[in-house]
Amino acid sequence: MNYQLAREQMIKRQIIGRGIKNPRLLEALQTVPRHLFVPKRERGHAYADSPLPIGEGQTISQPYIVAYMTELLNLQGDETVLEIGTGSGYQAAILGELAAEIHTIERHEKLARTAQKLLAQLGYHNIHVHQGDGTLGLPEFAPYAAVMVTAAAPTVPRPLLEQLEDGGKLLMPVGEHFAQVLELWQRQGENFTTHKITPVAFVPLLGKYGLES
Ligand code: SAM
Repeated sequence: MNYQLAREQMIKRQIIGRGIKNPRLLEALQTVPRHLFVPKRERGHAYADSPLPIGEGQTISQPYIVAYMTELLNLQGDETVLEIGTGSGYQAAILGELAAEIHTIERHEKLARTAQKLLAQLGYHNIHVHQGDGTLGLPEFAPYAAVMVTAAAPTVPRPLLEQLEDGGKLLMPVGEHFAQVLELWQRQGENFTTHKITPVAFVPLLGKYGLES
């Protein structure tokens, strides 16, 4: 299979075709080899217009959702970003192409280990994979210009809001099991503005400030 061509077609049909234009983001999507982030048996579908299983009952998000959420953060290149839900590491790699430092947290030890190994092999020295409960955030590296949560819960974990810098943005699917709305929060001093963006379907965010495990 010609993965480079599959990637070009994915970008043309699924990403540009749905209105995403940011040139840096399009370049990042062309650079990151998505097929390496899915299990071998799924490689033939890596560039399909859908999420895919990655083991442990978890998924890598649909390419368009990755692109859409990333575009909303409008990264310029000098930011420190926190991602909750490393999963395959694909979203982290896209963020790693667009911002200065990425911290990403995964609760499943095996997924965290696999993602860390692959990201190191691909040379992403600016991406740091942490294993643990992402609902607590990572105060030692805060504040963050952006926090992206790629799993859903009924409310946004308070520690993640507290770890945003002034003007920083948080993006998270909020709602019940597999029926949520993507919310964009922005910090202004001690206040937050919030916008509901679009309906989405993500796996649950488990942990102390998420759903019960
Ligand atoms: N961003 C991922 C990617 O690019 O492959 C996809 C993420 S997947 C939809 C959601 C991930 O969130 C799962 O791997 C799941 O184990 C993880 N997760 C759920 N609750 C978590 C928590 N409290 N802390 C860290 N990771 C969590």
